[in-house]
Amino acid sequence: MPELDRSRRYLLPTALDGAEAQTHLSVYGWEDRLSSWVAYSTSICGRSVHDAGLDLEDAVTCPRCEELRAGYEAVFTKEDRTPPVAERRAARKDPRYPAVLEEIRGFGWPAGNPMVPDGWADTLATHVMAAVRAAEEE
Ligand SMILES: [Zn+2]
Repeated sequence: MPELDRSRRYLLPTALDGAEAQTHLSVYGWEDRLSSWVAYSTSICGRSVHDAGLDLEDAVTCPRCEELRAGYEAVFTKEDRTPPVAERRAARKDPRYPAVLEEIRGFGWPAGNPMVPDGWADTLATHVMAAVRAAEEE
């Protein structure tokens, strides 16, 4: 396994319970509470899986996991590029910020629960506003 960065998340091939030959992808990250790397027991395609001791580069046989891979990797790459504190502070002071935040808070899942839970709405609004401001400067 290559040297992994504990502040980042990865996709690890995992195996379907009772069917070792079927490999899926699970989100894999460092868990401070357990002082170890942990793979989610639900694959990104929604199956119940376990860490089969596979490597990050090992083959994945689930076509749905392969289909979803790029979207997850885009999120993980973006997580690694947090705007500097000064840019985030400026984004929250932008006069358009309250409207962005209100828009994000107003989105819900079909069941009615908010799509972006409370504290995360501020984080997402800040990142969206910082991205808009950066695009305007170009
Ligand atoms: Zn899968």
